[in-house]
Amino acid sequence: MLTKINKDKFKHVLKLNDEKTIIKIKDITIGDENPVIIAGPCAIESQQSILDIAYAVKNNNGHILRGGAFKPRTSPYDFQGLKEEGLKMLKIAGEKYNLLTITEVISISDIDLICQYVDILQIGTRNMHNFDLLREVGKRDKPVLLKRGMSATIEEWLFAAEYIMNSGNKNVILCERGIRTFETATRNTLDISAIPAIKQVSHLPIIVDPSHGSGVREYVPSLTLASIAGGADGVMLEIHKNPDEAISDSMQTINFDTFSKVCDNINLISNALKNNSFNRG
Ligand code: PEP
Ligand code: MN
Repeated sequence: MLTKINKDKFKHVLKLNDEKTIIKIKDITIGDENPVIIAGPCAIESQQSILDIAYAVKNNNGHILRGGAFKPRTSPYDFQGLKEEGLKMLKIAGEKYNLLTITEVISISDIDLICQYVDILQIGTRNMHNFDLLREVGKRDKPVLLKRGMSATIEEWLFAAEYIMNSGNKNVILCERGIRTFETATRNTLDISAIPAIKQVSHLPIIVDPSHGSGVREYVPSLTLASIAGGADGVMLEIHKNPDEAISDSMQTINFDTFSKVCDNINLISNALKNNSFNRG
């Protein structure tokens, strides 16, 4: 049984045989057998805090430093990000620790500016249906991490990827970040089944964001490991030196110690998968 999508309506995202898109940025590859670890604060807060976080990412063999500079907040009264000042801080921290960087783009008018500072563009859940924005990032030469809309089906999410690819940019990384369901115990319901469903029909890499996927920091370690065991090409984690003091998404942010243990376990699981100890059938 195949993932239920209308195959005739796609030109770019579907796989024809067993091909896989492996995205190479500098010395990092996304989509091969080594899971990529993307970590950082929800929002960039200060130069020192992003440097401390970058050190923690590097020290645990993470690959990509994340941090929002333009924040799409539910309330207009919440912190909206440090904008270009934050991008500068992110770039300095990435360069110091030799990490790739990623940040969210929320507006077409910011794309050129953001491209000067980071390696990967992130499209957030609220903009997955912003087709003009998708078309514009599709014209750039930076890879795009496309989060699943919080109410989007897998087919709608793949159509969003199709918009980016149809504008010329073939380097799309899908990111499952939880969807809205009737459940209220968690912020979102992480749809682990999206991993095999995407893998079945698409050649694109898929990573998982268990931080937004649960909204609960205590659940992040097990959901991270479930994602890796389930075949995800990597994870994106919100981390902070003092999670309780994080300006945004503090409840779902893990500290450096937890991050370190999570990274050790990611390695254990991915090595077991490489040794073929597990067979997904
Ligand atoms: C984020 O990564 O900080 C973010 C806002 O994510 P999402 O778009 O998944 O809510
Ligand atoms: Mn966040």
